[in-house]
Amino acid sequence: MHPTDFSLRGALDALAEGAISSEELTRAHLDAIERLNPRINAYITVTAEQALARARESDARRARGEAGPLEGLPLAIKDLFCTEGVRTTAGSRILGNFVPPYESTVTANLLRDGAVFLGKANLDEFAMGSSNTTSAFGPVENPWSRRNDPDARLVPGGSSGGSAAAVAARLALGATATDTGGSIRQPAAFCGIAGIKPTYGRCSRFGIVAFASSLDQAGPVARTVEDCALLLRSMAGFDPKDATSAEVPVPDFAAACARGVRGLRIGVPQEYRLDGMPTEIEALWQRGLEWLRAEGAETVEISLPHTRYALPTYYIVAPAEASSNLARYDGVRYGLRVAEADGDLRDLYERTRAAGFGAEVKRRIMIGTYVLSAGYYDAYYLKAQKVRALIRQDFERAWERVDAIVTPATPSAAFGMDEKQDDPVTMYLNDVFTVTANLAGLPGLAVPAGLDAQGLPLGLQVIGRAFDEETVFAVGAAIERAADFRALPGLRAGA
Ligand code: GLN
Repeated sequence: MHPTDFSLRGALDALAEGAISSEELTRAHLDAIERLNPRINAYITVTAEQALARARESDARRARGEAGPLEGLPLAIKDLFCTEGVRTTAGSRILGNFVPPYESTVTANLLRDGAVFLGKANLDEFAMGSSNTTSAFGPVENPWSRRNDPDARLVPGGSSGGSAAAVAARLALGATATDTGGSIRQPAAFCGIAGIKPTYGRCSRFGIVAFASSLDQAGPVARTVEDCALLLRSMAGFDPKDATSAEVPVPDFAAACARGVRGLRIGVPQEYRLDGMPTEIEALWQRGLEWLRAEGAETVEISLPHTRYALPTYYIVAPAEASSNLARYDGVRYGLRVAEADGDLRDLYERTRAAGFGAEVKRRIMIGTYVLSAGYYDAYYLKAQKVRALIRQDFERAWERVDAIVTPATPSAAFGMDEKQDDPVTMYLNDVFTVTANLAGLPGLAVPAGLDAQGLPLGLQVIGRAFDEETVFAVGAAIERAADFRALPGLRAGA
């Protein structure tokens, strides 16, 4: 077995038995990155020297009997998490030279537990996108390809496309990601891996470059549901540096994966049955429900009536918050500065932001400032906030009848890099099944469940009650066991 093929759990066992060292494991990943990253572009920055040094330190800690829960595991870090002394770009030219003087809480937690960082993973600029084609550092390629058209280059999904592609192609054992409207679950589904957006407040947002603060959550992507559970346990936890971080205990998520689903009531929302959705996705959804019934769960038809307003609501709330958060990039304190010798302050702002932001980010800022402007605030932003409350209430009603909800993760499989690029609204439709969980603050997990006729992965989504990730993991792991998803992407290390 190639060392890059380990699950996180498998690698922990091999490290504990002394069958492999963290240095060997890390070197195997760095070699794979050297060979495949020029094509896949999953990493913006590779920190090879630092990774090897940390791996050696990790091996020494293990030899002293001081191994942490993630001791020696090589991971990719989405380039939205500030890493002390390591360039953090958010996929944007405006942060192209930004080296943070501090570490995000989530990455600090992973380092505390012994993880080794291979580098910073590519993403859509400021995490805005569903295809990882808006990065200032170039697009990421999905390691999977279509059976009948193997030369077509496909997107990995977004915005955490680099994280998902790296994990699928065996360029990392797992990765951090963030999800504002689907950016963990959609790329995980497109790349045939698992990923969870936890409950809002479960992971600290301190040190994560902000997109839409009331929606942003960090979470892991990995090749198994249990691996996501292991990573989340380290990433999560109360942080006094984030006022929205929740002071709740962090349970043993991995133990929950083995719970089974007997006696659970699984909600099937009728509003997630879309006109024109590929029949393969509908069929996979039905198969997933069948598997859960076979394991002793009961499936219940439910209604989430405001689902149809979720996308328009999200595409008002998210740009509004983004326009406010991105006001800080002014060319004065850090990041890019473009100035003319005789220009005034306003000229500095305009030149810096014109040169620093890409087209999608500018579009979001314009939408955001428009919906927040004096004349339109009530009509758009305030209305969207009210609809958001109704969407949240839909779920609260559902939890009276069910313990978890299962839906498709995405309305399509991965698409071509040149497809869906002409019209932003077509791109926004990717998020139709995922934005609801962000608007309501609920945990959502994507798990690979099958292949379409072209041999591309398709995922199912499990949504749970706030702070009940354990049930989400139990249901996700049951789907994973039944699906027995073993297909592999063509582009991968060790192939
Ligand atoms: N695709 C969505 C957007 O473009 C979600 C992005 C995200 O979750 N960060 O806003």
